[in-house]
Amino acid sequence: MSEAKPYSTDPAELGFDPAVLREKYNFERDKRIKKEGFGQYKDAVGELAEYMIDHYAEPFEREPLTDEVEFAIIGGGYGGLLAGARLREIGVESIRMIDKAGDFGGTWYWNRYPGAQCDIEAYVYMPLLDELDYVPSERYAHAPELLQHSIDIAKHYDLYKDTCFQTEVTEINWDENIKRWIIYTNRGDAMKAQYITMANGPLTRPKLPGIPGVEKFKGHTFHTGRWDYGYTGGSCEGGMTNLNDKRVGIIGTGATAIQCIPHLGEDSKALYVFQRTPTSVDARHNAPTDPAWKAKLTPGWHKRRVENFNQTLGGAYTDDDMVGDGWTDIFRNIGGIVVGNVDDLTDEQRDEVFELGDFQKMQEIRDRASSIVEDQETAENLKAYYRQFCKRPGFHDEYLQTYNRPSVTLVDTAGQGVDEITETGVIVNGVEYEVDCLIFSTGFETGTSYTSQSGYDLIGKNGTKLSEKWANGLRTHHGLTTHDFPNCFVLGFTQTGVTPNATHMLDEQASQMAYIVNEARTRGAQTVEATQEGEDEWCAICESYGDKTEQLLVQCTPGYYNNEGGGANKNGFISGQYGGGAVQFFKILKDWREEGNLEGMEVN
Ligand code: NDP
Repeated sequence: MSEAKPYSTDPAELGFDPAVLREKYNFERDKRIKKEGFGQYKDAVGELAEYMIDHYAEPFEREPLTDEVEFAIIGGGYGGLLAGARLREIGVESIRMIDKAGDFGGTWYWNRYPGAQCDIEAYVYMPLLDELDYVPSERYAHAPELLQHSIDIAKHYDLYKDTCFQTEVTEINWDENIKRWIIYTNRGDAMKAQYITMANGPLTRPKLPGIPGVEKFKGHTFHTGRWDYGYTGGSCEGGMTNLNDKRVGIIGTGATAIQCIPHLGEDSKALYVFQRTPTSVDARHNAPTDPAWKAKLTPGWHKRRVENFNQTLGGAYTDDDMVGDGWTDIFRNIGGIVVGNVDDLTDEQRDEVFELGDFQKMQEIRDRASSIVEDQETAENLKAYYRQFCKRPGFHDEYLQTYNRPSVTLVDTAGQGVDEITETGVIVNGVEYEVDCLIFSTGFETGTSYTSQSGYDLIGKNGTKLSEKWANGLRTHHGLTTHDFPNCFVLGFTQTGVTPNATHMLDEQASQMAYIVNEARTRGAQTVEATQEGEDEWCAICESYGDKTEQLLVQCTPGYYNNEGGGANKNGFISGQYGGGAVQFFKILKDWREEGNLEGMEVN
């Protein structure tokens, strides 16, 4: 141990050997690398298009629209709703929300799988709680409440007026003569809008693994993002009695799977979980909202809590951790390994401390698997050997316990994935597991260009295509606007500081957008657009952080965060983001608004 270090690296004191763990992580990572990278997945199109069926809405006909609105918002999830809410607050009356779903909700419209719930505390994840004077019914609210909240926001801000549901945008063109966007859809619409907001959201297009035979399966099959309760019976709360006499297989053990597997385990005659990489699953400690705590909340409580959560995750190790859950514990734990002040460390020591804190936390989570799962071989296979943020950290109080049911079998594929799908089942290591129902919990399209994920292109000034402009990654000003695309805003992780609490980011962006629109209206402007210089400057700032994040992620086990282990990809999930973190990013936006001269933007 080095005398100078204000922390220990001695395996005896730490309770684990960092060198051994480093080697184990590399070994586990290397065996999972597939040369195909993202190419190993298939889109749910063609003969796989049945995986995209909307089980929740009745199809309906309507005449094509050619009318005009001031604002068109594409996407009716929390992002689009926040945009609509913040625009209503500045007095925008003419708003049209467009979504391919049959109602508001976005993620929570599609993800109705049993057990679906927010994995960030609902008191900070659910948006607009102060405005709607609403307190969630439990700490980690379940999908029906999250969906209902979307509907309540839409009603509160009168956003149902003029909506176009079950409508897919196919292309959007800027008409310079009339200074309007023309929105084309799969229903033959050619609607006009002065402004557009793209709040399509990431992780929306289900993907399937390109396992040989994936299209051959003759039993019943669906993706978790399109749960078929018509087949399983029951609801989000479980009670899938139709599965009581069925053998069910589920492929994937990511954030979605850990939430639905406990219900499948309870309801199926037999459940086979096909695992490639385990998720780290820590305790959740969900609980109904305490009426006494609720009664003490004072106006503005939601905003204060959201900001406190962000500060805690951003490294401000305050004593006032309002949320105090698994997420904040990860960050506080990392700091806690140091005796003294983290600020006194050198950069190298800081990296080492973060690694040691990460090892320690992951070791605790691995030990948790051994203490809960009775069969120790299964417990061993459920242990995650990678750094905490290589994958979305998981939290659940019934997931690991499910493997103690005699009807549930973990089929670990030793990092290789399923070998083949037949008409009747799934083959792993030469053994066929026959199933009546096969569920894909295999995630959503990532790593492709923005316009591939949104499903439509934008043609801006001078015929500039967004697909071409962003073919090698996003180029924006403050992650919100882009040159040659006037009166156009984009919401999401788009060259912004990343935070696990996505709705906080969306709200900051929606508020920034409303500020810009309000300024443009006050100045009597027809258009507002990022200048080339403003965009270049922001891109240069984002690029200056690029290397460090990529170096860290490249050491990770493959997944969509690191382009399936495939190294640099300008369209990767967090590629090109502002690396200074969300706390700093929000401060940049706030300071920019306070300066009040719309620097980096052109108003005409
Ligand atoms: P993921 O992409 O995280 O998981 C896909 C799973 O499929 C992985 O376990 C993957 O294994 C596995 N897989 C892929 N191909 C194969 C194969 N050939 N054989 C066996 N297994 C395979 O998707 P999720 O839907 O779980 O989660 C997506 C994201 O959605 C999350 O990261 C999170 O951001 C969000 N989410 C949020 C929730 C919330 O807030 N409540 C809840 C659920 C999800 P491998 O790891 O080896 O690639």
